[in-house]
Amino acid sequence: MTTKTTRFPIFTLNIQYIINKKIGFDEMKVCKFGGTSVASAEQIKKVVDIVKADSTRKIVVVSAPGKRFGEDIKVTDLLIDLADAALNGKNIENELEEVINRYRMIAIELGLEEEIIKVIENDLRDRLSTNRDDETLFTDCLKASGEDNNAKLIAAYFNHIGIKAQYACPKEAGLLVNNRPERVRALPEGYDRLAALRDTEGIVVFPGFFGFTKDGTLRTFNRGGSDISGSLVAAAINAELYENFTDVDSVFSANPTVIENPSGIEKMTYQEMRELAYSGFSVFHDEALMPAFLRSVPVCIKNTNNPDAPGTMIVSERDHSKQQVVGIAADSGFSTLFVSKYLMNMEIGFGRRLLQILEEEDISFEHTPSGIDNLSVIIRSEYLSEEKKERIVRRVQEELDADDVHWRDMDYSMVVLVGEGMRHTKGLAARAATAIARTGSNIEMINQGSSEVSLVFGINKKDEDVVLRELYKEFFSNVAVTSR
Ligand code: ASP
Repeated sequence: MTTKTTRFPIFTLNIQYIINKKIGFDEMKVCKFGGTSVASAEQIKKVVDIVKADSTRKIVVVSAPGKRFGEDIKVTDLLIDLADAALNGKNIENELEEVINRYRMIAIELGLEEEIIKVIENDLRDRLSTNRDDETLFTDCLKASGEDNNAKLIAAYFNHIGIKAQYACPKEAGLLVNNRPERVRALPEGYDRLAALRDTEGIVVFPGFFGFTKDGTLRTFNRGGSDISGSLVAAAINAELYENFTDVDSVFSANPTVIENPSGIEKMTYQEMRELAYSGFSVFHDEALMPAFLRSVPVCIKNTNNPDAPGTMIVSERDHSKQQVVGIAADSGFSTLFVSKYLMNMEIGFGRRLLQILEEEDISFEHTPSGIDNLSVIIRSEYLSEEKKERIVRRVQEELDADDVHWRDMDYSMVVLVGEGMRHTKGLAARAATAIARTGSNIEMINQGSSEVSLVFGINKKDEDVVLRELYKEFFSNVAVTSR
């Protein structure tokens, strides 16, 4: 296969070209721009330059205007304040004006007519006049306007400078989501309709962050969810590439606020990115990879402020012979439920019944390290209330007749080494454990899934930074710093 491609590269390319033409697929990229990339007129001009620089960049997914400087407030947060004020029966004119003003400043600097501001103001007043009985729905509706109105404004700017562009409404385009407001997920049934975006003339400007249920109800993803919209659209249209533009040159191998000058990651697999995003790498939403992964659409994380930098590619496979570990992450805010019962290992169905109690409390779990007579369940503390915690202990005691059930009161941090190369490397866990031992921290829990893409150490939160630094020294001291 390799020989063939090398010997007849032109032939191979032509065949692909003819197939693409036959099925009507021109090369097409989806690029998504995050909040800082569309926070001001200056940033939006950079977005337009990026789109102009590559004629295959046909679909542009946008966030709401984000922070222009450190202390600034994201438009999404202003909208949440606006919704709160309305729900509390307060006079909303100040909050409303603050939101409109953000768009106005952008529009004026872009040289757009006042008309677009009228469109935005009317849209916000319409949303404010909708029924407030369902507070989540009302807030979602206002939150979504951040991206929706920004998409309209950016489409207007493209047209203003002579580039044909259209705003795409997610409802009409078919971005379908489930009907669980507390866990909004996209439904793949929407893909066929979304695929028609390929045939839209000119540039398509698509608002991120929200979709519609089958009965037409608007729902937003959780924060940072425009990444998910971008990935969904890229998967639906079978894009050649999904470019996720943000404000860093690449994904760092460790948190730059803890590690000085961490190296940038040039290439990693979907699985590696998923593990890092899950464990606190906020550069890419942890739910956003799935659609791209399922349709094998490569993802590239790039910098709007430095688009010539190659960025980080996320693909199905990488050569991990030189760098087994791609990144080190840490995440905190976990609680541990400890359960012990003599001869637990022989009791059929114990684990299932324990997890069923959690399911009935609507709680998902993260890890379940176990011994022969004990099992710990690690859960994100945000899912727990004092009332739920007490009820769970009582139920496990009564229904499973456990010898001991309690919540361990230590503030846990999970430090995670991520890399597909771990699967083939002996002694890596020993190196990591030795590095942690050098810091004098105690390892409370070790977990390695059978996929061996990640190795998790549960430690005391107070030791997190020192452990991260030591692990970075151990696994990355030979890696050149490639980007900022
Ligand atoms: N604007 C939303 C947020 O601030 C979604 C996004 O930017 O992706 O979370």
